[in-house]
Amino acid sequence: MAEVMRRKKVCVIGAGAAGLCAARHFAPNLNFELKVFEQTNNIGGTWVYKEATEVDENGLPVHSSMYRDLRTNLPAKIMNFPDYQRLNAVEPCCVSHQEVRSYLQNYADHFDLFKYIQFGTRIESVRLQVSAEGEEEWVVRTKIMKTKEEKEIIFNVLMICNGHYFDPYMPKIPGIEKFPGMIIHSHSYRKPEDFSGKSVLILGAAASGVDIALDLANHAIRIYLSHNNERLNSSLPSNIIEVLGVEKIEEGKIFLKDQSSVTADVFMFCTGYRYSFPFLDENCGIRVDDNFIIPLYKHLINIDHPTMCIVGVPTVVVPFPMFHMQIQYFLALLEKRASLPTKLIMLENSKLKTSKKRHAHKLMDKQWDYNNSLADAGGFDRLPKFYKLGYEAWSAQRKANLLNYKRARFVISEDEESVELVIPK
Ligand code: FAD
Repeated sequence: MAEVMRRKKVCVIGAGAAGLCAARHFAPNLNFELKVFEQTNNIGGTWVYKEATEVDENGLPVHSSMYRDLRTNLPAKIMNFPDYQRLNAVEPCCVSHQEVRSYLQNYADHFDLFKYIQFGTRIESVRLQVSAEGEEEWVVRTKIMKTKEEKEIIFNVLMICNGHYFDPYMPKIPGIEKFPGMIIHSHSYRKPEDFSGKSVLILGAAASGVDIALDLANHAIRIYLSHNNERLNSSLPSNIIEVLGVEKIEEGKIFLKDQSSVTADVFMFCTGYRYSFPFLDENCGIRVDDNFIIPLYKHLINIDHPTMCIVGVPTVVVPFPMFHMQIQYFLALLEKRASLPTKLIMLENSKLKTSKKRHAHKLMDKQWDYNNSLADAGGFDRLPKFYKLGYEAWSAQRKANLLNYKRARFVISEDEESVELVIPK
């Protein structure tokens, strides 16, 4: 006779894209009783634009790093969750943040998720305890922001979907405290008019650094894009000047790695974010060491306490479809349709495979094998081919045409065996 599963109580922290995806897969499943806690008053997380940069309507630090004119840096088509393909922009292939937010609203409506979400409620702390029956449980302390009322609730399963782009990372720059101008992190960047007539040094040329430099180009007089990576292509506007990384600040000047110096009114860190789980008690067993989260199996499962997962840890990926894969894998484990390997194998899998800890969760081209491995181990469908093909076409077009790739037409063949990004004349 099949084993009857006791209904498990599931806590999801956060109602951004990852938390919604968790709810979509767990809510209809009768083996689970679901509760999603969201500290703000909205779903969507990153995709909820806030003019404010300091505190939100509930008195909490502003979570979202969205800026006013942001268009996605990935083609909308490959941002779709595979089971809800309604983000259908073809040309231009990249869409506004408002469109992504409404897509998430529609996703939540379509799967009837709102009834599981408790808004304005922040998770203050989570600790592990063992029940009288010897089972591990998560003791979750919630705080209702309006009334300040706090209470502890016990759950069997914990899914951390709190986002990974809200705690700014700013490398130490000798002399930065004496920089005479404005210092800002991209987390607080909102609109280019705020920098009209100013010269801005942007430190970091990953997605945000490049995108914000282009956003500023019609307003700032000069933008130094400071980084140590491969040079970008030459089609940048003439007031964006690529320079080497920053060495130090002295006597009001910014010294670069080649000992040359520049001056600027604004120093903008586009240096990314730190993983941050301020609510996790030490006894939950998760550590973050120089942005390397340990010990996680498949960048997802808490190896010591596998009824906990952290969704969305890999970087330089296509996040929404990856959430869809991670969550189904976790569900398969809990339902015992899949099983974890031995602890020794999991620890081996979790070892650092990159030269720097900071890049431990960067997947890039490896994301497709990663997604496939989740599907194969969990016994569910792999992602349709157009995701990988679309990502590759996007990657090539972005490299060749940084200025125009967002305007491209997303052309997918009828058999979905090929994808092209065509820039209109
Ligand atoms: P979030 O969207 O950050 O949501 C986390 C939620 O958890 C928030 O609502 C937050 O309020 C809540 N929360 C946090 N802590 C607590 C707590 N203690 N208690 C209760 N609730 C809590 N991705 C793309 O696919 N395409 C793009 O073009 C793209 N552009 C981006 C541009 C920027 C500027 C940034 C910052 C990110 C971009 N991303 C993009 C990545 C984006 O972050 C992901 O697509 C995705 O939205 C992440 O979803 P999430 O649910 O993991 O996190």
